[in-house]
Amino acid sequence: MLRFSPTARTNLFRVTLVITLAALACKALPFFGSDPEVTFAVVGDIMGHEAQIRSAYDPASKQYKYDSVFSRLGTRISAADLGIANLEVTLPGKPELYSGYPQFGSPDSLVTALKDIGFDLLVTANNHSMDKGEAAALRTAKVVLDAGFLQTGTFDPHDYPARRILEVERKGIRMVFLNYTYDTNGIAVTPGVIVNIIEKERIQKDFELARAKKPDVIIVLYHFGKEYLSAPDAFQKEWVDFAFQEGAQIVLGGHPHTLQPFERKITKDRFGVEAERFVIYSLGNFVSNMQRRGVDGGMILNFAIQKTDEKIVIRKINYEPVWVYTPLIKGKMEFYVLPVFEYLESKELDANSMARMKLFLSDTQALLKQSMDSTRDPVVK
Ligand SMILES: [Zn+2]
Repeated sequence: MLRFSPTARTNLFRVTLVITLAALACKALPFFGSDPEVTFAVVGDIMGHEAQIRSAYDPASKQYKYDSVFSRLGTRISAADLGIANLEVTLPGKPELYSGYPQFGSPDSLVTALKDIGFDLLVTANNHSMDKGEAAALRTAKVVLDAGFLQTGTFDPHDYPARRILEVERKGIRMVFLNYTYDTNGIAVTPGVIVNIIEKERIQKDFELARAKKPDVIIVLYHFGKEYLSAPDAFQKEWVDFAFQEGAQIVLGGHPHTLQPFERKITKDRFGVEAERFVIYSLGNFVSNMQRRGVDGGMILNFAIQKTDEKIVIRKINYEPVWVYTPLIKGKMEFYVLPVFEYLESKELDANSMARMKLFLSDTQALLKQSMDSTRDPVVK
């Protein structure tokens, strides 16, 4: 039998006590030892061109299937606490209403496939929100919600008061998401539906309501900018600044189909609150049938927000380029969103596709070099 001296016994008791207390603390506080952190995987525009709809159709089952499109992404989206995308099509429900450019209507199974790879939030305010009219706009938001997504940007007026400000809590961090579009391609937004248009009064009111909820962070998703430009225009800069002035900390942009820079800086809002703020002006296309240089890919933007001393800091900013590979297989055009780095040595791609993917990568790295430099610590003022 082991015998301990009185001192050894006291020490053993102390050690046991410390271990027990630490274990209890870990159980009570899952983030014991580090500040809570929420991770993001954000992508740009989910387009639905005619060729994508045709490709999704499976004549054997007479169903539209999109799973293979996203099958190369692994756990890149699901691994993040929040996977976010802009759904730039309507879901009109009837196959005769499915169509590509210029007025998009896609099968519901597109969003089921997005759910299956791990997206959590789909925003629906964009220039195509009204493409198939009021009923389809309402149906799109409903299908997205019924599929289990968080959703904002377009609303049924009946539940607008309850859903106007989207609050999301993860790991004890309380976030508000707001989403706006510059226009609906000239199609009138009829009174039976609400589409968040970029208008000062609306946004200011939303911020007022959002701030009253005292979230840890306000995140704005804007659909704006000029198509095919690789730098933000004056309109984008103006509205990003407006969001920051109103207290937003993060702004995520889309619509130009091309990638545009991102930056992190410390600025004061109109209430005198100094905080780290982050903007990406355009996330590019995530999936589309746009094949020209610069619009044939996009990115998965990764970052984390951390709550430190009651302040939100933005960390681990990084991106992974994705490129849309469209091979002809048995006479049928297929669509695959490829994480570029994983496919640089792939034997699967033909020489022309490989060259185009590599060109997309080098263009992207050149465009975003300064963005990556600006987001390294320490944060620039
Ligand atoms: Zn757009």
